[in-house]
Amino acid sequence: MTSAGRFAPSPSGQLHVGNLRTAILAWLFAWSTGRQFLLRVEDLDRARAGAEEEQLRDLAAIGVRWDGAVVRQTEREPIYAEAIARLTAAGLTYECFCTRREIQEAPSAPHAPQGAYPGTCRYLSPAEVEFRRSSRPAAIRLRAWTDEWTVKDILHGSYTGIVDDFVLRRNDGVTAYNLAVVVDDAAQGIDQVVRGDDLLPSTPRQAYLASLLEVPVPEYAHVPLVVNSDGVRLAKRDGAVTLGDLAEKGIPAETARDMLLESLGLPAGPLDQALSVFDPLVLPQEPWVWPLR
Ligand code: GLU
Repeated sequence: MTSAGRFAPSPSGQLHVGNLRTAILAWLFAWSTGRQFLLRVEDLDRARAGAEEEQLRDLAAIGVRWDGAVVRQTEREPIYAEAIARLTAAGLTYECFCTRREIQEAPSAPHAPQGAYPGTCRYLSPAEVEFRRSSRPAAIRLRAWTDEWTVKDILHGSYTGIVDDFVLRRNDGVTAYNLAVVVDDAAQGIDQVVRGDDLLPSTPRQAYLASLLEVPVPEYAHVPLVVNSDGVRLAKRDGAVTLGDLAEKGIPAETARDMLLESLGLPAGPLDQALSVFDPLVLPQEPWVWPLR
């Protein structure tokens, strides 16, 4: 099995400089540790026609190259179904009929952490499940046997976070991100996950699920985000934030790449130069404020 890192964008629109900075970091982490670097398009949800092509083009424009063919999650449903079937056979799933509103309004279970699913459907009788199925398609949830899990992160050290009975398959039949990401990382031999630190709180759930599926837990590095001048995670509405926006201002992709590298304390120029001096332990720990509008 290969040893690999990856970048896994959701093709919901053009990548912005925050996404591109994370991609550069993921590439540097993988290459500096002799790993392959894979690209996975997370198109189960929020896919916009044409976005994948734009994203691949923009990654190539800043010099991020990947090994092998791009993997798309929509082509992998049978693999996710198999993983859910395995968990179900082990008694580790249940059907949930809750609406979003019911979950919001449910009193949280004693000692349950804030934001965790309160477990409303966990103990429905078979007859009740049968009855509920006639009125609403079920989501599939994990039957978790812990309410927290600890992961190790290269940049954050030991991190403990919530594990609840999170959704594995939504009630519209779409596989949930937390299941797909664990199954795909394992199937692709990905043993290093570098991504934005907004995803750190989901990581204990994913590592716990990996342990239940008996697949290796990757090493994690959750990197700081790029933020706007209000300190809020960068979004498309923040002005000139995609390579397309920047090109309109006369700023070429190479200049954008150089700004991103310099924001990381790395030398401007082709990524190979940054690679030769890359040291994860001296990366800036704080979010970076994007200086343009
Ligand atoms: N597809 C996710 C995103 O674009 C990233 C998931 C991951 O890296 O695990 O936010």
